[in-house]
Amino acid sequence: MRSYYVAGNWKMHKTVGESVALAKALAAALADCGEKVMIAPAFTSLAAVAEALRGSKLILGAQNMAVEEQGAHTGEVSVLMLKDLGVRAVILGHSERRHTYGESDALVNRKVRLALAHGLEPILCVGETLEEREAGRLEEVVGTQLREGLAGVSPEDFKRVTIAYEPVWAIGTGKTATPEDADSVHAFCRKVLAELYGPSAAKSACIQYGGSVKPENAAALMAKPNIDGALVGGASLKPESFVPIAKFR
Ligand code: PEP
Repeated sequence: MRSYYVAGNWKMHKTVGESVALAKALAAALADCGEKVMIAPAFTSLAAVAEALRGSKLILGAQNMAVEEQGAHTGEVSVLMLKDLGVRAVILGHSERRHTYGESDALVNRKVRLALAHGLEPILCVGETLEEREAGRLEEVVGTQLREGLAGVSPEDFKRVTIAYEPVWAIGTGKTATPEDADSVHAFCRKVLAELYGPSAAKSACIQYGGSVKPENAAALMAKPNIDGALVGGASLKPESFVPIAKFR
């Protein structure tokens, strides 16, 4: 049976107490869920959520990571610190990091390689803005983000990378790409991955869709041949919306 990967990005929401309550509710409600499920609380809640997830199948993820391993980097959180807390996955190159905090493909690539070198599973986010889409530049933008984001990543390490296609215009806006639209961009991503790693690696690569995924649209998106899961923002903040997304089938 096909396997799916559903991840929740809690962004800058929830106190420690609120995060623990949500993590416990999700761990209980998803105990019988057959999909791979990850939750990414804020850095401040990681330690407490790690404790709350003890014995659960849910994977603990981080939303970002410093580009350096350690040192004089005020305000940053390193891969070593994340691993120490039990973090296994990390979201990298999210559009909010790229567009609000100016992260370049080169920087995202260094983070991807650092995460892999330390045994974390990165989710590399790619996606075009509305302006880029309307200018006919979707493939150029997404192709570059993939090629540059994965530069220097070996075929062996690539097996631990998940790609998340998140059209910027669909994130937090309530606008979702139609399943057909998303699937065709995922197919394009697979084509680029085939150029980089060969057809078999591209076929087995996990490509999540992200952008206003909700219980109402999850099954239709996931039914598409190239959509292998979801990266969920707003709807991951409540069990009522995240649980039915993870249990979409
Ligand atoms: C995200 O933050 O990655 C995201 C897809 O957000 P939302 O689901 O709220 O659009």
